[in-house]
Parts: sequence; C-alpha cells; structure tokens
Amino acid sequence: MKEQIEDQLKNAQKVVFVTGAGISQESGIPTFRGKDGLWRNYDAMKLATIDAFYENPKLVWEWYNERRQNIFNAEPNLGHKAIAELENFLQVTVLTQNIDGLHQQAGSSNVLELHGSIVKIKCTSCDFKDEIFTQFSKLPPLCKCGSILRPDVVWFGEVLPQDVWKEAIIQASSCDVMIIAGTSLVVSPANTLPIYARQNNATLIEINPEKTIMTLEMDLSIRSTSAFALPELVSIFKKIS
Ligand code: NAD
Repeated sequence: MKEQIEDQLKNAQKVVFVTGAGISQESGIPTFRGKDGLWRNYDAMKLATIDAFYENPKLVWEWYNERRQNIFNAEPNLGHKAIAELENFLQVTVLTQNIDGLHQQAGSSNVLELHGSIVKIKCTSCDFKDEIFTQFSKLPPLCKCGSILRPDVVWFGEVLPQDVWKEAIIQASSCDVMIIAGTSLVVSPANTLPIYARQNNATLIEINPEKTIMTLEMDLSIRSTSAFALPELVSIFKKIS
C-alpha cells in the first residue's frame, strides 16, 4: 500500500463503509449487475417497481419469496465479519444498499439500510410496517386496513427513507476514511456518498474486482473480492492504529 495512504489510515478515527450487493456475493447471494447478476435472468422493471407489483403482485411476491429464502439460508462472510471487527478499534458506520441484514448478523452495530430490508413488509396505503410473517404465502398478505402489503424495500423510482438518508449524509460528510465495497456505484443517490466524504477530505478506498464509474476518484482501488481484501485491510488498521 502507498505510504501516504498508510499515513492517512493511521490518523483515521471515523471509518464509513458503503456496501452493495458484491459484499454478499461470497455469501451466495447474487448481485444485480455484473457476471451472473440477477438482472441477467430477470427484467428488473418487471419485478422491482411499484407498477410491476400492482400489475402482477403474485409474480413479484414469489420472486421476493425466493430471494428471502436464499437470504435466510445465507451466512455473513469474512468481509462482513472484518467490518464488524473494526468496531473494536475505530468508530465505524456501515451505509448499505443491501437488504439482506448480513452486516447486522456479522455483529456491526451501526448499520443504515438505505434500501430497506427484505425481512420487513409495509402497507401500500397506510403507515403499517412489520417483520415478515407470511414468507411462504403465494400471494402478498393484506393489511388490517384492507390494502395489499409489499416488501419494505426501495424499488426503482422510489425515494429513500428520508430519515435514513439524512443520517447517511451526516455520516459520509464527517468520516476520515470511506471504504466502498461491492457496489457498482450506478444506483443514485447512494452513489453520491463518496462525494460527501471527499468534501471532508476523506481518503476513498474501493474494493471491487472490477472498475467502477468512480474508480478515477479513488485514492486506492483494490481489485479483489471483499471477503479476501477486507480482512487484510482491517488487519492493517489494527497494526497501525
Ligand atoms: P450491483 O449488482 O450493481 O454491483 C455489484 C458490484 O459488486 C459490481 O461492481 C461487482 O463488480 C462487484 N462485486 C461482485 N462480486 C464481488 C465480490 N465478491 N467482492 C466485491 N465486489 C464484488 O449492486 P449494487 O451496487 O449494490 O446495486 C445496487 C442495488 O442492488 C441496490 O439497490 C441493492 O438493494 C441491490 N441488491 C442487494 C442485494 C443484497 O441485499 N444482497 C442483492 C442484489 C441486489
């Protein structure tokens, strides 16, 4: 690693992780884009929009049932665990686009779920929200108010939960180091988080086997998988902090 970056890591007190589907790939959960990404086999616009849900609630619900089943069977990998371990040494916040809950399962305590959670449901009309209770029903259940319930995730074209997003901006704007792992950075507004960090002169580190659209903005790009690179990076932090 470049000496200058090692110096920057040495003085860091607050580290923010921005994670995406790639960090869970080694837990057996497919990414959206890239090789073997979910969208290669499915048309996202038919499955992850509110219009698609109203048009064919059964299809969308069953697709979420399948993903839920896969996620329930998945375990956090060495990448998730390394991030959780870093909390013993530094102030750590995780801003994740993932809906799988694996950061929390690995032991991270400050996780902001930008795109919701697959284990939660909410009403399409009223304010009702709950943990999933009918995961294997073939059709989406109904709310007490009579309206249809949906996964509590952010679909294409929907705004992020504003309280979560505001807190994410505060965290990104005040970190010393931002580590961006397993995201293509093509989904907005999550892909603007490195800009907030840069305004605070934070060091930007990307972990991704492939280039991203923000690679040129990074101080360091680690071309490796997150389960391999994150434990190494965390051990460097441990050694120098
Ligand atoms: P994406 O599919 O667009 O990009 C995944 C990125 O991860 C790619 O750049 C790929 O090169 C990289 N990658 C693949 N394997 C990796 C590995 N082992 N280690 C490190 N990087 C790896 O995913 P994204 O950027 O998160 O896109 C955003 C959307 O994907 C979000 O809306 C998110 O909710 C959704 N998503 C979440 C899950 C999940 O919860 N696990 C799964 C699929 C999609």
